[in-house]
Parts: sequence; structure tokens; C-alpha cells
Amino acid sequence: MSGIGRLAGAPHMVGATRGRDMRMIETDYLIVGGGASAMAYVDALVEAAPDLECVVVDRRHAPGGHWLDAYPFVRLHQPSANYGVSSRMLGDDRIDAHGANAGFYERATGVEICDYFRRVLDERLIPSGRVRFLGMTEYVGGEGGLHRLVSVTSGEETEVRVRRRLVDATYVESSIPSRHRPSFGVDEGAVVVPPNELVHLASAPSGFTVLGGGKTAMDTCGWLLDQGVDPERICWVRPSELWLFNRAKTQPLDLVGSYMQLQASWVAASATATGPIDFARRLEAEDVFLRIDPGQEGSVFRGATISLSELDALRSIGDVRPARVHHVGASVISTDAGDIPNDPGRVVVDCTAAGLRPSPPRPAFEGDRITVQYLTLGYLCWSAALLAIVEAAPLTDPERNALCPPVPFSGRIGDVLYQANAVLQGIAARGAVPEIAGWNDASRLNPAAGLGPRMQDHDVVDALGRIGKDVGGAFRNLQQRAPLDRFPVT
Ligand SMILES: Cc1cc2nc3c(=O)[nH]c(=O)nc-3n(C[C@H](O)[C@H](O)[C@H](O)COP(=O)(O)OP(=O)(O)OC[C@H]3O[C@@H](n4cnc5c(N)ncnc54)[C@H](O)[C@@H]3O)c2cc1C
Repeated sequence: MSGIGRLAGAPHMVGATRGRDMRMIETDYLIVGGGASAMAYVDALVEAAPDLECVVVDRRHAPGGHWLDAYPFVRLHQPSANYGVSSRMLGDDRIDAHGANAGFYERATGVEICDYFRRVLDERLIPSGRVRFLGMTEYVGGEGGLHRLVSVTSGEETEVRVRRRLVDATYVESSIPSRHRPSFGVDEGAVVVPPNELVHLASAPSGFTVLGGGKTAMDTCGWLLDQGVDPERICWVRPSELWLFNRAKTQPLDLVGSYMQLQASWVAASATATGPIDFARRLEAEDVFLRIDPGQEGSVFRGATISLSELDALRSIGDVRPARVHHVGASVISTDAGDIPNDPGRVVVDCTAAGLRPSPPRPAFEGDRITVQYLTLGYLCWSAALLAIVEAAPLTDPERNALCPPVPFSGRIGDVLYQANAVLQGIAARGAVPEIAGWNDASRLNPAAGLGPRMQDHDVVDALGRIGKDVGGAFRNLQQRAPLDRFPVT
């Protein structure tokens, strides 16, 4: 299980080092992690709960989390319009007129996202006088309101007395290529690089072998093709087939009819599916789900999004090996499905980092701790902000947890009905609490926000009608096939 440990660094260690210059600070909330989920949480809490103070701690130097170390050609796979914090737009909510994203809402680059979070911190959170950000600082543990931090640069220790709660914003943190250790061995003479290194190539290699089947590998193959690399010179070692969202169905604001149609298809599939693969196929039949190779049975579902033009480009790569790499040698790559030729002039790109890590659901509100998790399907910032809004509401923890069933994430399509069930139950529960429903309807993080003025849109009206017809059946079917208390934690 990922996330920070409750017992790491027992409190007696604090006492043992107190003789040295230990800094002491006090706060209402200690937020561990300074990534997107932490920023969305703190921003919403500052808005909803005046007077409360937060300390945000991250071992990285700045807010933004994994985006700070992402490969240079990374972009959001969803529109910027629904990413970041609730109080500030990311980008201009512009529909791109040119390029691969033409016709869709703009998607920020990694650099833009990092700049955005820095501005949120410097221009909004710090000036509020209620938020402190401690970068280059490791959270090492604690319990019962006393927690310990260590500066990664000076080694200085800080004891934090937390008046309200510790917020674990690391539970669903991403594992990314530039920071992970590959699970396979590499011989001297073989060239294996993370995608970050591709922009530093000095001359064209004899070819590229891309390892991994997730979003990063798709981005890397797409970028190589955009650079004019002949598809014949790319070998893609892709262990499994993914179910992907069709970007055309995830558009907000003026194109929100597309997203509402996705919702309607999702609810209809939830009402009738006899199992997870049947569910996925129903969504595929409605152009909501896509597969790169529809001839392969999809086993993985990580919520990644792709456009049809990107899909076409990826399909031009003919040398696709359904395999898992064991070892990269200078002349051969060994895999569980046999050997693949390599040569020292070829660049092997490691895209095997897990990305989103499996996160078995745990109660979001537990005594002195909040665990930031997905409450929505694939929208982490929206989920984190919702948790803050629910935290600020005058409720008991059992009431809060009833409003926030976590959406389990395993990466397996086999669990999609549990995900659908958690999403549906959460929407229904939160929709019944006027203050929370009101925030939700207005928040820019919600891709369905602002439906009111768009009630003339045929797709919106049609989708709402379909949802109304199918939602009862969806509740019954999902409850029967995927009750949340029976989620198979492995
Ligand atoms: C390439 C890529 C593209 C994505 N695109 C989208 C998208 O379009 N839309 C979307 O909604 N989601 C997307 N995601 C999902 C992504 O996981 C989230 O968007 C989000 O950025 C994750 O934020 P996080 O705060 O949970 O984790 P992270 O960004 O990983 O941040 C966690 C932070 O916690 C810190 N930390 C961990 N342990 C400690 C400790 N003990 N002490 C101090 N600090 C600690 C880490 O240093 C890190 O900075 C994407 C993910 C990837 C990898």
C-alpha cells in the first residue's frame, strides 16, 4: 500500500533529538505532499474554512509534484479547464484551432502546470497568511498530533503540532520514469533512457524501442512520430492492451454535451453490463472507450484519454510486441515472450514506471488523518477539492465518509464496476447536501459544471433524459455485481 506510514519515526525519536536545535511549529492541518492533490485540497479549504492554517510539506523544492520531473513533451491528457485548483483558471479555456488537439479544449504542458501551481502558492495561498510551504522537506512520521519533518538540505528537524488533522496527499502519488528504478537489468553497452532524455539526442539513433504500455509510452511514441521518425524504426514493447477514454467525449464548457453523453453511456452500461468486459465493450460501442488494437482483449484501465488522431498515429507502428521486459542487453532484449533484437546504436526508452499506483480504498476521514483519494473517475484535483469542502462542512466523520466513498484504483478493467459503483454512490450522496452540491455545480474542476445556461444543447438534454431513465437500474446492477464492501483488495 502506498502513502505515508503512520508509525514511521516514532514520537520518542522526537524527544531523543530535542537537545539539538529542533524547530517547533503548530498548525491546524499538516499536508504531506505538495502535488496537484495537495494544492487543490488546500485551495478549497482556505476558501471554505476561514481562519484555519495549513502547512504543506514536500521533499521536492516547489509545488507541482511529479510534473516538476516530467518529460518535456508531457501534457495533461484532459482539458486544462478542469485541472488545478478551484479558485484559478489554468490557461484560457480556449478551444485549440490547430494541431493535434484541434477542436478540443487546450491541454497544459508540464512547464505550464508547474508555473501555475507556483503562482497559486505565491499569489494566493501564501498571501492569505494561512498557508506555509516547506519544500525540500521530508515528512518522516508521527502520531497523535505530533509529527516530524527533516530538511533534505540542512538536515534541520522540525516538530509539528497538528491541532486538527494530518492530510496524506501522497496516497495516490505518481511513479514517473525519471524517478523510478526499472524492474529489469541493463547491460553496459545498451542505451536505456527515460523519455526525458530524448530531447537531448545529438544524432539520430538506428531506431527506438519503447518499453511500456501506459500513457507515457503512448506520449513517447506519439512524440517520436511527430518528430518525423519513420514508424518502421520504432519497436513498441507493450505488455497489455489498455481501455482508453475518447478525448472527444471528455470536453467541458461549450462542448459539455460530449461529456454528458459520456455520462449517459456510462450510466446505461452500469445498468445493463453483465461484467467488466461487457461494460467496457458497451462503452466502446458508443465511442466512449477506445483500444489501440481492438483485436486484443483490453485488461488495463487507468483512465487515460486519447484522441482518434493520436490513435491513428500510434496504429502506424507495426512492430508491437506484447511482452514484459526482463533484461536489456546490448544486442538482445529478453522478455517473457522471447527475445527482441537490440543494437548499441538503438535507444531503448524506459516508460515502465507505474504512473498512477494502485490505491486500495481507505476511509477518507479517519480520526486525526485525511487520505486524499479519487472520489471521481480520473479527476484527482476535483476529488481533492471536494474532500476539503466536505471536511469544512459541519459533519461527523461517518457522515463525511458516507459522502466520499473512495473510487478504488487498481489499473485493472476487472474492477471497473466497483469504480462505477463508488462514483455513482458518491454523486448521489453529495447531491443530497445542498451546500456541497452547490459548490460542486459551480466549481471549474467539475467537467459538468455550468449546465444551467446550456440546457438548449440537444446533447445535454438528451443525456440528462438517458441518465434519468437508467440511473435506478445502474444502482441496482452495480450494487448486485460490485458491492463496495466486497472490493477485492489484492
Ligand atoms: C504523465 C501524467 C499525466 C497525467 N495527466 C493527468 C490529467 O490530465 N488529468 C488528471 O486529472 N490527472 C492526470 N494525471 C494523474 C496525476 O496523478 C495527477 O494529475 C496529479 O498530478 C498527481 O498529484 P498528486 O499530488 O497525487 O501526486 P504527485 O504529483 O506525485 O505529488 C506527491 C508529492 O508528495 C511528495 N511526497 C511523498 N512522500 C513524501 C514525504 N514522506 N515527505 C515529503 N513529501 C513527500 C512527493 O515528493 C510529491 O511531490 C497524470 C499523471 C501522469 C503521471
